[in-house]
Amino acid sequence: MQTVTILRTLFIVLILTGAKNHKLMGQEHPYTADQLMGIAPIDIVGDDYLSKMNKATAKAFEAMKNAASKDGIELQVVSAFRSFDRQKAIYERKYRKYVDQGLTPEQAVEKIIEYSTIPGTSRHHWGTDLDLIDGKPEAPNAVLEPEHFYGDGVFCPMREWMQQHAHNYGFVEVYTNHPQRSGFNHEPWHYSYAPLAIPYLRKFILLDLEQVISKASLLGGIVLDSNFLKRYKTAHILDINPKLL
Ligand SMILES: [Zn+2]
Repeated sequence: MQTVTILRTLFIVLILTGAKNHKLMGQEHPYTADQLMGIAPIDIVGDDYLSKMNKATAKAFEAMKNAASKDGIELQVVSAFRSFDRQKAIYERKYRKYVDQGLTPEQAVEKIIEYSTIPGTSRHHWGTDLDLIDGKPEAPNAVLEPEHFYGDGVFCPMREWMQQHAHNYGFVEVYTNHPQRSGFNHEPWHYSYAPLAIPYLRKFILLDLEQVISKASLLGGIVLDSNFLKRYKTAHILDINPKLL
């Protein structure tokens, strides 16, 4: 009888502790690997690649867009949420192109990661990151070139407006032009909704990247070994604007 009571008490304690832990886990780490890699994203609203983003990001962006509009800047999304499959298509198209041009697999991957990510590791998978231009002036042919955002570039007023106001809406430039920063090249068009992107990144860096990447069986996969991924994580994933860490 006594043993039964002890076991029963133990069982209840286990259930309660389990439930409590589960709840805590839910609050601290509510994201799974598939969600963080754009395979099973959550809370994505919008119909196409120009408007698909996380619900809270969309709300904050709408507020920022309205404020910018009053100051004569028409914030326009060029790229928002991107699924794993879409990133894989971008990566493999570039990979084929560079290898056809005579680059080795190593060189092709290094060239891809000047601006593009290894599928599964894009911040665009989270629905928190947006590539933005100013829709008001006539757009140049290739809009995402840094030169358009500086000096007499058509998107320079937008960059200046964002520098002053974006943080009020939770948006932070990710790949700054800080001279000591490594990883991706400077992207004056890429902003991240920090209130969500910070916890996403903290969870993302706990994933076993090698396992995740090998499962994706990518072109040039042989190059993406543990040494490569260690460097990639340090430089490309973590060497970003410190406000997002
Ligand atoms: Zn981007």
